[in-house]
Amino acid sequence: IKLNTSNKTHCTNALQTFYTENVLSQISTLINSYCGLIEGGSRCSSEQITYLFEHSQQTLQYILDLFDFYHNYCDQVQIILELFSLYAEHVLVYLNQNHTKAFYTYVLRLLEIFTKCNYGKKTREVNADEDFNAHIYTLLNCLNHLLAKDFIDFSNENSSNPEVNVGDVILYGLIICLPLIQSDNLLKIPSISLCYYKLVSSLCEQHSECLFRLLNQDQYSIFLSTIKSGLDNYDNEICKMCLETIQSLALYTIKQQKLNQTNEKSKYLEHFLDYLLQETVITTTTLSDLFDTLAGTIYTLICAYSNQFYQFLGQMKQYDENLSIIIDKLANDIGQKPDYNRKAKLSFTVKFESIFYQSYRIVAFNSNMAWRSSGVSHQELIENLYRNGLIKSQRIKEAMLRTDRGDFTDRTFDAYDDRPQPIGYAVTISAPHMHCFGLEILKDQLKPGAKVLDVGSGSGYLTACMARLVHPGGKAIGVDHIQELVDKSIVNIKKNNKDLFDEGIIEIHKSDGRQGYATEAPYDAIHVGAAAPDTPHELIRQLKVGGRLVSPVGSTFGQEMITYDKKADGSYEEKRHMGVMYVPLTDEKQQYASAGIRKDL
Ligand code: SAH
Repeated sequence: IKLNTSNKTHCTNALQTFYTENVLSQISTLINSYCGLIEGGSRCSSEQITYLFEHSQQTLQYILDLFDFYHNYCDQVQIILELFSLYAEHVLVYLNQNHTKAFYTYVLRLLEIFTKCNYGKKTREVNADEDFNAHIYTLLNCLNHLLAKDFIDFSNENSSNPEVNVGDVILYGLIICLPLIQSDNLLKIPSISLCYYKLVSSLCEQHSECLFRLLNQDQYSIFLSTIKSGLDNYDNEICKMCLETIQSLALYTIKQQKLNQTNEKSKYLEHFLDYLLQETVITTTTLSDLFDTLAGTIYTLICAYSNQFYQFLGQMKQYDENLSIIIDKLANDIGQKPDYNRKAKLSFTVKFESIFYQSYRIVAFNSNMAWRSSGVSHQELIENLYRNGLIKSQRIKEAMLRTDRGDFTDRTFDAYDDRPQPIGYAVTISAPHMHCFGLEILKDQLKPGAKVLDVGSGSGYLTACMARLVHPGGKAIGVDHIQELVDKSIVNIKKNNKDLFDEGIIEIHKSDGRQGYATEAPYDAIHVGAAAPDTPHELIRQLKVGGRLVSPVGSTFGQEMITYDKKADGSYEEKRHMGVMYVPLTDEKQQYASAGIRKDL
């Protein structure tokens, strides 16, 4: 093993021999035997192991040199990773502080070399994928073993102040693995995903602090997106680990809030609250085995983000009156400013199950939300909507492609989910598949040169798409009765579609949409983004002959999507499409009240 690779520049010939089959296989055999030695270590005494480690330090250094030297040789890389993983598994628990520190340093070096060799590597040899996956798996496994030292420590030492924080080492490894895992979609591989989620859930349980300290905003947001995809795609075991991860992070956030030490990143987690609530209350997923963990996680999030929770309740109450009774009861039990403690969490968990079943029964009838087109990028979302037949025409696809949903929400990791998401003021940006429906059903009217109206423009997403479709020569007018949303939507649209304002193709006004927008009437098309209680006569009046209006109509108990086509004699033809769930077209005061905002109007 004492191949001195640092002399490699001196004689190229000798260098060549290092790459011959014979030498390669000898190296493998040697390291393999060393692995055997380490495994055998599990049967030795603590003193023997310490002795072994003390006398292996030089060897470990050499092996790291070899790791660097043979970084393109999959088998050698794999066997060395395995060696370190075995070391972490069998030897680390016996090591004293100094030795532990030394070992962490070796692992850091190992990680360093590994990154250096794998970053930006686009082309790998045929079959290299499988090898590469094995590398990542072994590396994650090794990190898992490092963490175990926190629980099991057989070293004859009782110090509570370790100098090197294992959390830092793991985090360093995670920072290296995250982009690799992401770009190659490695979480689709069951063994890797299990290992990954195991690692992050125990990491967060013990070292949330490192995570906040060492990950920058982008890395943290990628990290949270892996947690979300764990919840979306996996079995109960992984879901449970993801929920526990969220819970640990929420607990950490609560601590930070008490110390007044929150920052930008503290907010990121809050999106999981309405995600989990929607998931349990609205979708048909049965998570029965996970109820306790789920309820505990939701409770912890509620304590961390109570404002967000009350906003969510405000929305749910608007959707359904029966649900609103249950929700009031829940809110009552929790209280305005819940303080996290185990007892309260337990009592919430008990109630949660019955609340869930009651609300589930109600919502299951009303909901037609099939969130099947979600993507991780805007492009992917639109492609999925197209593939699933929700976008039918090329023109609409192009208009939607140019209007990035990420510009219209402040979501950090699930902006491209096919679901409605809160935008404040007790309302949501509609689900992308509903945006598609609105555009497709109006597509004959949404032609260049047309004049169109979007009532309840909210985030501005749909108004921007409509404007894109009537460009050039046309005009799309959005109205919303909440000034703050009007202002925000203008900012949103300007991010990537400023030309629409510059060319006068789009306007957004604060106005009560129940009266339409008479100044610019009549319109070729009117889209209504909130549910009218009954036939919206005033809006139909503002249609041109041949124009079409589409609106959800009905009480909170049952809404239907209805189109009205204006005929030459001024009458209209009505067509019912499907049952939907929209926030109501309401008055300004009422909406502020639902959002828990006091405002003198
Ligand atoms: N298409 C929008 C939907 C937003 S939700 C989007 O995807 O972002 C419905 C919107 O209707 C909310 O923004 C709400 O403020 C607005 N709204 C409700 N009642 C209204 C009224 N009477 N006049 C104008 N806007 C109204």
